Amino acid sequence: MSELPYPYEAQASQALFDRAAAVTPGGVNSPVRAFRAVGGTPRFMVSGTGPYLTDADGREYVDLVCSWGPMILGHAHPEVIAAVQDAVARGTSFGTPGEGEVALAEEMVARIEPLEQVRLVSSGTEATMSAIRLARGFTQRAKVIKFAGCYHGHVDALLAAAGSGVATFALPDTPGVTGAQAGDTIVLPYNDLDAVRAAFAAHPGEIACVITEASPGNMGVVPPLPGFNQGLKDVCAANGALYISDEVMTGFRTSRAGWFGVDGVRPDLMTFGKVMGGGFPAAAFGGRADVMAHLAPAGPVYQAGTLSGNPVATAAGLAQLRLLDDAAYEKVDAVSERIRSLVTEALTKEGVAHTLQNASNMFSVFFTDRPVKNYEDARTQESFRYTAFFHSLLENGVYLPPSSFESWFVSTAHDDRAVQRISDALPAAARAAAEATA
Ligand code: PLP
Repeated sequence: MSELPYPYEAQASQALFDRAAAVTPGGVNSPVRAFRAVGGTPRFMVSGTGPYLTDADGREYVDLVCSWGPMILGHAHPEVIAAVQDAVARGTSFGTPGEGEVALAEEMVARIEPLEQVRLVSSGTEATMSAIRLARGFTQRAKVIKFAGCYHGHVDALLAAAGSGVATFALPDTPGVTGAQAGDTIVLPYNDLDAVRAAFAAHPGEIACVITEASPGNMGVVPPLPGFNQGLKDVCAANGALYISDEVMTGFRTSRAGWFGVDGVRPDLMTFGKVMGGGFPAAAFGGRADVMAHLAPAGPVYQAGTLSGNPVATAAGLAQLRLLDDAAYEKVDAVSERIRSLVTEALTKEGVAHTLQNASNMFSVFFTDRPVKNYEDARTQESFRYTAFFHSLLENGVYLPPSSFESWFVSTAHDDRAVQRISDALPAAARAAAEATA
């Protein structure tokens, strides 16, 4: 057993983690899952129902991660499971076109007005990688602007100053990305329009696109300041560059039309993942039809995928989207607000300096008393308090993201019982945060 910083048991998870470490680097298939930022044994989950997860030791948790966003209806929603079972029974992959992918694309296009055409892929990383290639192919330009603290998947050109796991582990950049791959990436501070204007002035006719998280959730939740996204769109339009809004996290979560449904700024291209896959690997990129027409086989920019538009994944995604009506979003927004006020109340009572930020129902807590507008601000928080807060909640059956640089997620399934569990666990967690030392 590794040394646990807190006195609770996770023998079965630890045994699985030891087995995993022998055959998988770091014992996990995605870095943040390893609990390195908070220490202790990552919980190996065996099942999920509604707002709850059960681990290998048989302990139940209220899940505030929701698979990092996708599970907006909770785990094992009966109608999603039924759609998956129905699809699986008809075969799992054909490598041909199928009706499910058409129906999913139609549902997406119907919800998001600037989304005229979409191409389905299997991960958010693939979506952003392909969108950037398309932007470069369309504009015949090389340079890409991204913002520090925004994560767009592990695309070589976009890993510079990325959020999420790269932020969690304080990695400056990553070995394996060559100067050539990263050399055309311009990294700017988030929420700083002047920096964007200066970059365009410094590189006239060279910038293919600006890619931004529609509302960032990968440095914790840091919404765009009023006018920032519109400003990006305007600067791009004035300079012949494309504005790419990465809605992998916000898409179909922050409203029925994602963040576009909140701020109404029309991107040239958009990327999606998470919610649209219903818990399966499905993602997409799309936008202006004249730009998408450059994609193979309609146009010259190549992009493809053996499992793109997979029939089981599209069935799950479509079932989930069809259940996400206005009432569902009202429910998720309301439960998010209840949990946010409980967290603030508990931390305030213990005198813990904190800032709680939200973008619709996405939210996170920063252990600092100043508003967080960009990655630099996010990094000044007292993350050691998050570690204590996290472990206390975990011990009391509440599963938070194992990093202070991530959004928390809720679902329509987070009912009174789940909220009560969180409410009961918060006072001790707030005390632990108050007493924590660096
Ligand atoms: N873009 C954003 C905004 C994300 O949050 C993520 C993943 O968290 C990605 C892209 C990459 O998606 P995936 O993990 O499916 O490759």
